[in-house]
Amino acid sequence: MNRPHWSYSQISCFQRCPLQYYFRYIAGIPRKTVPANMVLGSAVHAGLATYHRALMHHKPVGFSTLETSFLDSWQIQSDNAKIDYTFKQNQNDLQQLGLSLLKKYTDEEPPVSIRSVEKPLHVPLQASTGYILEKPLLAIADLITESSDGLLVNEFKTSSRAYSSMEVEQSLQASCYVHAAEETWAEPATVRFIIFVKTKQPRIQRIDTVRDAHNTTRLGDIVQNIERAIRVDAFYPIESALNCSGCPYRQPCKEWGREQVTKPELLNFSTNGCH
Ligand code: SF4
Repeated sequence: MNRPHWSYSQISCFQRCPLQYYFRYIAGIPRKTVPANMVLGSAVHAGLATYHRALMHHKPVGFSTLETSFLDSWQIQSDNAKIDYTFKQNQNDLQQLGLSLLKKYTDEEPPVSIRSVEKPLHVPLQASTGYILEKPLLAIADLITESSDGLLVNEFKTSSRAYSSMEVEQSLQASCYVHAAEETWAEPATVRFIIFVKTKQPRIQRIDTVRDAHNTTRLGDIVQNIERAIRVDAFYPIESALNCSGCPYRQPCKEWGREQVTKPELLNFSTNGCH
């Protein structure tokens, strides 16, 4: 797991904001805050993993065990970083919401024929030219089940709104999972997004998506070009409300570039220009 690799989180971080990628993965600046929604999502995932592992091993599990996994995860995250709540959020309401979503899911028919739960899959990445990238892809799918059509990668999300079909069709994460599952087991794979929608009336949305060989090499091409950008230090901010509101690097981002403009040669140049 510690050997150099690409993950979907790293790829999407660079695509979202190359400067945020730099702070997180190159400079290694630890995050001091974490958005409450992210904490909720991780805690729900911890509860789901406990549930699915018990099902895979055919062991009975009560909801209280899932609740413990959920609350333990919450505690670990709050020990590691300050949780950022919006003015409408508080810990108690969010925990109740997360537990009610978990309960809703476990009240449904449980998944069957489980192949793996949060299993790390290391696979090579290949560009459309046939070039195999040095660093492999590491994908950790929440839950993989078997069906008569092949493997089904189940990816769980918590979201304030339902997903659109275009969102899942364009999802690079789905391409990562299909590629990883097919390379690992040499069986066809599809992806199902299972979205815990945090509306007033919480609900669970399921939406499927398929990928082909072109998606796989497109993924390789994207990562190859990110590697090229990193080699020439092409890190720059992409400022938007969506990106920056939950970014833990707002302070270093504000300071970024100031060092360059106060370099003596630049000051001299600007003074000469005034005269
Ligand atoms: S504050 Fe915004 S622009 Fe700056 S690093 Fe974070 S996401 Fe990027």
